[in-house]
Amino acid sequence: MTEFDFLEPDLLDEDHRMIREQVRRYVNDVIVPQADAWEAAGEIPRQAFRDFGALGFLGMRHPVEYGGGGLGSMASVVLGEELSRSTYGGVASAFLVHSDMSMSHIAHRGTHEQKQRYLPDCIAGTKVGAICVTEPHAGSDVAGLKTRAQRVDGGWVINGSKTFITNGVYGDIYIVAARTDPAAKGSRGISLFIVEKDNPGLKVTRKFEKHGWRASDTAELFLDDLRVADDALLGEEGKGFYYIMSTFQTERLVAGAMSTGQCSKAIELTVDYTRQRRAFGQTLWDQAVVRNKIAWMASKTAAARALLYQCAQMIDEGKDTVREVSMLKAFACETLQEVVHGCLQLHGGTGYIIGTPIERMARDARILTIGGGATEVMLEEVAKRM
Ligand SMILES: Cc1cc2nc3c(=O)[nH]c(=O)nc-3n(C[C@H](O)[C@H](O)[C@H](O)COP(=O)(O)OP(=O)(O)OC[C@H]3O[C@@H](n4cnc5c(N)ncnc54)[C@H](O)[C@@H]3O)c2cc1C
Repeated sequence: MTEFDFLEPDLLDEDHRMIREQVRRYVNDVIVPQADAWEAAGEIPRQAFRDFGALGFLGMRHPVEYGGGGLGSMASVVLGEELSRSTYGGVASAFLVHSDMSMSHIAHRGTHEQKQRYLPDCIAGTKVGAICVTEPHAGSDVAGLKTRAQRVDGGWVINGSKTFITNGVYGDIYIVAARTDPAAKGSRGISLFIVEKDNPGLKVTRKFEKHGWRASDTAELFLDDLRVADDALLGEEGKGFYYIMSTFQTERLVAGAMSTGQCSKAIELTVDYTRQRRAFGQTLWDQAVVRNKIAWMASKTAAARALLYQCAQMIDEGKDTVREVSMLKAFACETLQEVVHGCLQLHGGTGYIIGTPIERMARDARILTIGGGATEVMLEEVAKRM
């Protein structure tokens, strides 16, 4: 623990503390020295997934039987916070989408055969996963998705398109949401399928250039008469919307962890900077207005962190957490915007220069109030439950 891990929750046990130390060491020794090159390349080398997998960090929540760690949500929280403290949001998102957002669907709903076929490789980092829900005309409104899966002899034929898919260019295993019952309205009649990269019907039509998260690849996909066998159906036919919403709870918890990890690191960098930067005959830190601003950002980060750990505990207790996790996603991700921009301001012109961590963090942070449930959508989920 450092003085920038505001509010050390009692909920962490010895395992979590050990994971935190190990991930932190890996981040400092391996990720940080290489991540500028990954940002420039717009991709993370496969070896990095394999190395991270070999340490056991890509399957901490997945069943032991398939090579996972069998741990709870708190392990994902620790992983999300520590990867995000790297200051490279793109690296964190590529690993976390793989481990906690894509593979979770197979771990939760897969048959024994599906788990056996995919989880060990994904947990080892030899295969990389993506989750394909968003479409050009259906983002926040998941029930509006139009990709169509038609039953044919021995399987399904899928047609449609997906966009903004993390790990979509270089991934191997794609969880694809498609409408299996066109007569069913809205959220009904959607199912999930497992699609492998070498399927000739899966075409990567674009790799996006992005404002932030540059080390992670983001794809537009075209599903062109894509044929899969019956055993590619994940879970029950027609329950895909429910599965997506349920896995969103993990995804949003991890987004909360990414936010608090980045907030803590941004504040740490800013305390260091303002303590050494001199102006008007004293350090910036000597100005009460500067110190107070940083203390206020630290207070909000501690509040977000308390909510984060509480939500992880509630999920692990099997409680309905939609309201609290929606509060967390909205509050932590909005707090992050205030913190990174407040910290960038205190770095002055230095914070505006490409290559400084705070400049990259400000760019990376921006997506977190949009992706995986925009703040407005999250607050509607809260309001519906009041
Ligand atoms: C870098 C990146 C990575 C991503 N990775 C993935 C991925 O791996 N898999 C995947 O499936 N998707 C992914 N996405 C998609 C992401 O989840 C969507 O962008 C997000 O759900 C918002 O959808 P949209 O972009 O279509 O915005 P829209 O739904 O068009 O919404 C635009 C804006 O309108 C506002 N808004 C929307 N709904 C409401 C409402 N009900 N009330 C009030 N205001 C509202 C919000 O401000 C919102 O930001 C990614 C996106 C990005 C940019």
